[in-house]
Amino acid sequence: MSEVITPTSRTKLRRSPGRGNFDRATIYRILDEAFVCHVGFTVDNHPFVIPTGYARVGDRLLIHGSSASRMLRALAGEAEVCVTVTLIDGLVLARSAFHHSMNYRSVVILGQATVVNGEREKLRALRAFSEHVVPGRWQEVRRPSKDELKATLILSLPLTEASAKIRTGAPVDDEADYALEVWAGVIPLRLAVGVPVDDPRLKDDVGVPRYVSNYRRD
Ligand SMILES: Cc1cc2nc3c(=O)[nH]c(=O)nc-3n(C[C@H](O)[C@H](O)[C@H](O)COP(=O)(O)OP(=O)(O)OC[C@H]3O[C@@H](n4cnc5c(N)ncnc54)[C@H](O)[C@@H]3O)c2cc1C
Repeated sequence: MSEVITPTSRTKLRRSPGRGNFDRATIYRILDEAFVCHVGFTVDNHPFVIPTGYARVGDRLLIHGSSASRMLRALAGEAEVCVTVTLIDGLVLARSAFHHSMNYRSVVILGQATVVNGEREKLRALRAFSEHVVPGRWQEVRRPSKDELKATLILSLPLTEASAKIRTGAPVDDEADYALEVWAGVIPLRLAVGVPVDDPRLKDDVGVPRYVSNYRRD
């Protein structure tokens, strides 16, 4: 795989193209940091955008869920899909209302998904979902049964048509507005990890594992 994902007529940025980024490593870093994607597809000419979890395995993005999921069944055919992932890094407060913005890193992926078949492949994918969210978890949990595997549909989307867009830094105001006595700058934002809470039905002798007590998102 090349280090740059070649822009297509669909992924070439037209607005603020300077914020575009097609480096595979940059796109993968954003995908590996975020948890949630939004999956856009159409059913009977009606658009839907559904939030869901995902994992990246090599050059593919995996999404999964119940075999009864409308979203997954719709995409298991040859439907076109658009998946977006967004990280918010800050609120950008300009001197004018017009120039307020956000610092962000986002990815748009276009393509067609295929179904992941085979017990080994499905288990590998489920392990990737688990490890993407909480590294170390897969080692401890009960593995999916045959019936659970059967009830799970996993789709794989190639990362061949994708773009990243990144905004960083200070607000950009109209030159005349820099004279205004209005505070301007950036409120940085990040995801915070709280203190783990025991399940009320946890067995007395089960302590908090290190991968939970040491859980970090930065
Ligand atoms: C948190 C956040 C807040 C935003 N707020 C605003 C806002 O208030 N107003 C606004 O106009 N825009 C906002 N944007 C930018 C927005 O995502 C679009 O880039 C912008 O609106 C241009 O859309 P377009 O369809 O004209 O893009 P075009 O440049 O025509 O899109 C062409 C192709 O470029 C790629 N592309 C476009 N946008 C993105 C993206 N964000 N990430 C990755 N690839 C992309 C896609 O492959 C797309 O198909 C925001 C983005 C984020 C992540």
